[in-house]
Amino acid sequence: MGMEKPNLYDLDLPELEAQLVAWGQPSYRARQIWEWLYRRLVTDFDAMSSLPKALRQQLAANTTLAVPHVLSRQESLDGETRKDLLALADGEQVEVVLMNYIERHSACLSTQVGCAMGCAFCATGQMGFVRQLSSGEIIAQALHLQRELSTRGESLSNIVLMGMGEPLLNYDATLAAIRLLVHPQGWGMGQRRITLSTAGIVPGIRRLAEESLQVNLAISLHAATDALRQQLMPVNRKYPLDALFNAVHAYLQATNRRVTFEWVLIHEVNDTLEQAEALAARLRGLLAHVNFIPLNPTADFAGRPSSQERIAAFTEVLERQHIAHTVRLRRGGDISAGCGQLRKRVQQL
Ligand code: SAH
Ligand code: SF4
Repeated sequence: MGMEKPNLYDLDLPELEAQLVAWGQPSYRARQIWEWLYRRLVTDFDAMSSLPKALRQQLAANTTLAVPHVLSRQESLDGETRKDLLALADGEQVEVVLMNYIERHSACLSTQVGCAMGCAFCATGQMGFVRQLSSGEIIAQALHLQRELSTRGESLSNIVLMGMGEPLLNYDATLAAIRLLVHPQGWGMGQRRITLSTAGIVPGIRRLAEESLQVNLAISLHAATDALRQQLMPVNRKYPLDALFNAVHAYLQATNRRVTFEWVLIHEVNDTLEQAEALAARLRGLLAHVNFIPLNPTADFAGRPSSQERIAAFTEVLERQHIAHTVRLRRGGDISAGCGQLRKRVQQL
């Protein structure tokens, strides 16, 4: 390759400065371009009116602005959740979800097309791995939502990396995207407003601990015994619970930042009192919080969401042992906002 034009959204500030200097431009032009891209949210070079026309033409001739376009859109009945299926430059597809709460807009971004982890209950896992996203393709999903919000005088308040894919298996692009999102000359989002969710990639967690970032870490746990977890999440064979919790301890030691554990409640599978006791034993004394999410049913998984009674019995075990937790509502259940499901539905048409 090498002949392809670079996507401007993929360049960090030093890379863009180096390119401009190589063209005989002052390096401050890079900051001006970032202002157009990440603050003013323009999608073409002609709109960058503070740049000399010759530079705009040079940019257009030598780089691209890869802006994804919407293939389909689904909105939940309550209007709180909206999911867009986006087409990338090569035609591959990812989904991005916008969640609107009172005065708050959260974006759920994808980090890969598909996912290699094969979690049984997950539509993305059922699809398999297609390819990595570049940092620019991750950022572009947030820009897509931000553009629309800004026309109403609103903006994204939070970003979660919980769409399609495993962010810690696309480590460099994911970290580059986070660094741009929090860069004062880039998007300028507060670090604590960003959450990265992982299925438990141990080397990635250990590496993230050393990044001196203040983003939030969520770990998809879903089971507290190796036997059950490896049935639901094949990744547990490679990184069993002891290895995972050793990495979590190291992360807590390095960052002193509370870790969130995600637990999709599946009726009579992982909502037993034995699992609740095992979970409480794992988390006792840890700076941790558990998010329970009722399962969004998917085509290739026979599980059902847990009943209210079973959720109540399960969480009572945690309460007795003072383990902090929240039971999330099923947001966007009617548009199947669980990861990967929209793409699948569109492909079946
Ligand atoms: N790969 C990362 C991030 C993307 S998945 C991870 O697994 O953490 C984001 C979250 O959606 C994970 O917690 C995942 O377990 C959850 N999820 C996947 N399928 C789901 C379903 N059918 N219902 C509810 N949550 C689901
Ligand atoms: Fe991949 Fe996360 Fe889905 Fe598992 S839950 S298959 S890790 S996207």
